[in-house]
Formats: sequence, structure tokens, C-alpha cells
Amino acid sequence: MSDKFKAIVAEQIDGAYSSQLKELAMSDLPDNDVLVEVEYSSLNYKDGLAVTGKGKICRSFPMVCGADLAGTVAESTASAFKPGDKVVLNGYGLSETQWGGYSQKARVKSEQLIKLPANLSTKEAMAIGTAGYTAMLCVLALERHQVTPASGQVLVTGAAGGVGSVSVALLSKLGYTIIASTGRSETHTYLTHLGASNFIDRAELAGNPRPFGKERWTGAVDSVGSNTLANVLSQTAYGGCVAACGLASGPDLPGSVLPFILRGVTLVGIDSVMAPMKIRLEAWGRLATDLDKSKLAEMTTVEPLGKVPELAVAILKGQTRGRVVIDVNA
Ligand code: NDP
Repeated sequence: MSDKFKAIVAEQIDGAYSSQLKELAMSDLPDNDVLVEVEYSSLNYKDGLAVTGKGKICRSFPMVCGADLAGTVAESTASAFKPGDKVVLNGYGLSETQWGGYSQKARVKSEQLIKLPANLSTKEAMAIGTAGYTAMLCVLALERHQVTPASGQVLVTGAAGGVGSVSVALLSKLGYTIIASTGRSETHTYLTHLGASNFIDRAELAGNPRPFGKERWTGAVDSVGSNTLANVLSQTAYGGCVAACGLASGPDLPGSVLPFILRGVTLVGIDSVMAPMKIRLEAWGRLATDLDKSKLAEMTTVEPLGKVPELAVAILKGQTRGRVVIDVNA
């Protein structure tokens, strides 16, 4: 095994933040119990924030960026994993406090690692990635709150993004009727292929929130936040549920309690980073069965590790579509 490998490394020197493709040595890796030959990582909104330094994601330096990874175990002192196992790891502070997936090698903690379901390849796992796994957590939340295909339409905001695209594909396979909210009308054909049947221009949800609106959907997956989330809540039908996972428009929530106290609407917070292992296993298990692989392929592009800095800028501008897999060995 070569002693050298490539990674996207963020550094902060004399207060100046930078990130770049660097060569590291095996001896640089942290002292964890499983060595993974990384095959793929992916591009998530948070990776855009970390790589550009526009968000305070990395909390210790030097930090290998990349919120997720999939690959093959090369060495393990943990009884649960052996060389050759195909594994996936996302969240748990990767790219924040632990070295992440934009790297050809990773030494990781076995208690955070998941064996890939047999019918998912490492490439498919990263086509899903953090965004797709978060979409699954949102769908699981809607199911827990009795939002069923029979109970009414479901809204997906930021629909052409990563969380949005996987949410549309998942909900469609499960039989829901989907309204997609997007700011890019050129993605309507793409979103129709994924399973959306109705569209709302995102500008319609971005204005000053009305405290209480006409009931339009029984459930929603929101990756946008701010005015959009407040407007989504105010138009959720009686007894409905909104899974809030993102802040693409902003972290504020300038709304009213009326949807909660007059319509019994539930707002569920979704955190993918520290989700307990039981929920992770459920989510990855469901992703292996409930996501149409041809739709997953349709929403995915594959890019080399060296292009990450450029892609990080693009995702923050809302210019990427669907999911971007990072081939760390290309
Ligand atoms: P993407 O950039 O792929 O998707 C975000 C989408 O939101 C865009 O494609 C765009 O969709 C829409 N959007 C972008 N900017 C705005 C804006 N100013 N106003 C309204 N809509 C906007 O990102 P991801 O899918 O990877 O992540 C989406 C969000 O979810 C992020 O905020 C991310 O931090 C969060 N997230 C949270 C997780 C958690 O654990 N809670 C885990 C993963 C992600 P369109 O062009 O269709 O309008």
C-alpha cells in the first residue's frame, strides 16, 4: 500500500482559511480502529460551506473535508469489520471534528461505520450520500406522523437539489402525489421523471409568511427554511406534518403558532449528523429497497476529487442539480 494519498484539506493559518487538494501520508491519519480505502464521497450543501469556508463547519485544523464516504475496509482491529467489507459512513462530525471523505484513505471509528446493504454499491451509496439519507429520515418522519399516500399531496421544497431530488424519488416510489417547489423551471422535466406531478415556483413560498393559509398539502419535506418553511407550515392541512431539515434560504423561522394550535400541524426537526445508529440502519435499509435505482442514476453526476473546490462554490449558488458523487481516485 502506497504511503501517500490525496485529500481535500482545510487549514486555518494566522486566521486565514483555505482548502486545497493535498498529498498526505498514512502517518497523518488519525488513530482509529478501521482503515477504509475510500472509493467515493459526495457533494452536499454543508461540503460547500466547509470547502469555501463560508460556513464555520470545520472546527479543528488541519481538517479533511467531506461529510460522507463509502469504500472498502483495508484493515480493522474491530471484530465487527474485516478487510473487504463494503462500508458507508456519514455525519458524526465528519469534516467538522473528524477527518472526512474527500480522501483516498480514512481511518474511522468502527462504532460509526455501517456495512452497506448487499444491493447497494459504494457508488450508489454516495449517489444517495448525506443528502439522500437525510431525505429518507424526512420520509420516515412523515410516516411516523401518519402522512400516507392516501392522506393527500406532499410538498418537497428545494426539489431540484440533493435532499429534494431524493425525497421526490422516494415519495414517488412509495405512492405519494408530489408537489415540487423549485426556483428552476428548467428542471420540471427532470423532476417529473423523478415522480413530481405538480409544481410551485419557489418565489410563491418565499414572500412574507401569512400566518394561516388555504390547506394545500398534508405533508412536506423542507430543505429551505426561513420564510419558505413558515409559508409551508401555514398551508399544511389539518393534522399534517412538516419535516424540516435545511436552511438553503436561511436559518430563521418567521412564522406563527396558528398552524400548530388550530390545525394540529406537527413540525419535526431532522438531524442526520448525530442520528442514533438504530435510525441510521433503518434509513439505509429502506434506501436499499425504496429508492428506484434508475431514478438515482438519473439524478447523479460523477466528478473527480480535484473538482471539489469549484463544485463547492456551485452548490452554494444553487447551481448543482440532484446529487454529485465525488470519485476520490479519479
Ligand atoms: P442543494 O444545494 O443540493 O439543494 C438545495 C436546494 O434548495 C437548491 O437546489 C435549490 O432548489 C433550493 N435553494 C437554494 N437556495 C435557495 C434560496 N435562497 N431560496 C429558496 N430555495 C433555495 O443542497 P442539499 O440538498 O445538499 O441540502 C439542502 C439543505 O439541507 C441545506 O440547507 C443543508 O444544509 C441541509 N441538510 C441538512 C441535513 C441535516 O442533517 N439536517 C443533512 C443534509 C442537508 P431549486 O433550484 O429546486 O429551487
